Amino acid sequence: MIEKSFLIQKYARLGFGSVHLIGYSVAGEESVVQVPELNVCFDIGRCPYFALTSDYVCLTHGHMDHLAGLPYYLSQRAFQGMKAGTVVVPRETERGIDGMLRCWREVERQGTPYQLVGMSPEELWEIRKDFGIRAVATHHGGPSLGYVLISIREKLKPEYMGKVSHELAQLRKEGVQIQYRIEVPLVAYLGDTCTGSVFDHPDVQNAEILITEVTFFEPGHHTKAKAGKHLHLEHFAQIVPKLKNKHIVVSHVSRRIGIRKAKALMRKKLGDEQMERITFLMDFEGSTDAGDVESTVPPSENE
Ligand SMILES: [Zn+2]
Repeated sequence: MIEKSFLIQKYARLGFGSVHLIGYSVAGEESVVQVPELNVCFDIGRCPYFALTSDYVCLTHGHMDHLAGLPYYLSQRAFQGMKAGTVVVPRETERGIDGMLRCWREVERQGTPYQLVGMSPEELWEIRKDFGIRAVATHHGGPSLGYVLISIREKLKPEYMGKVSHELAQLRKEGVQIQYRIEVPLVAYLGDTCTGSVFDHPDVQNAEILITEVTFFEPGHHTKAKAGKHLHLEHFAQIVPKLKNKHIVVSHVSRRIGIRKAKALMRKKLGDEQMERITFLMDFEGSTDAGDVESTVPPSENE
């Protein structure tokens, strides 16, 4: 009798009104979070199949668990006749990533097309008139960025309210600026980061949905959090009161702790009221990380 065991990877699917998140994120193993409605995937992990449909991939930093699937993503899209993927990266990593992708072209003997967009902190790349991606500096040792998806809107200045359309058209003709621009942060994703000024950034604090890592939870894991430049629950507890987000999604939890236990420790620390807006990405039925079963995969030392 042969005993077979399978590890079937399942993905999170969270709905927040008109926006969904599909993803998987375990520290040191894989991180990928897709926002299908906005055509963006944050990090690419090992490129699970669903990630192929996003035209834009925003890579936060160079660690393998966040970008290993990039050549596969680009190659598969080319193979399936989809348009070239656009990959947003921290400017300092652009050369290295480009070199890696060129190697893959040679190895695979396929002229896989791609577009790399190097970004620096505070840069806003306006993909369309009404939509852009802003890079924000995170704190993870090497070059690392978080990204905020921004809805760009034009509004009529209050002094022109109540005017009829032909009057407005006339003003426009005369070159009068009758509108002003507003930027609404929709979704912010921080990748890996320890505590720091990124949590004071207005877009990060005000985004409707904030996806942030909290890797460590237990008192004995402070040194690990410090060494890997990750967030510990103790840091997160100090950050939460200044966050105005409607929804906060916790990702990148260490395999050293099950989601259930992590959630319980967080509830104890933050209280029921804060927990109403906090969701753990990997808290879903059938998740191998949910704490229902003891994980057979050891935690990565490289969290
Ligand atoms: Zn990392």
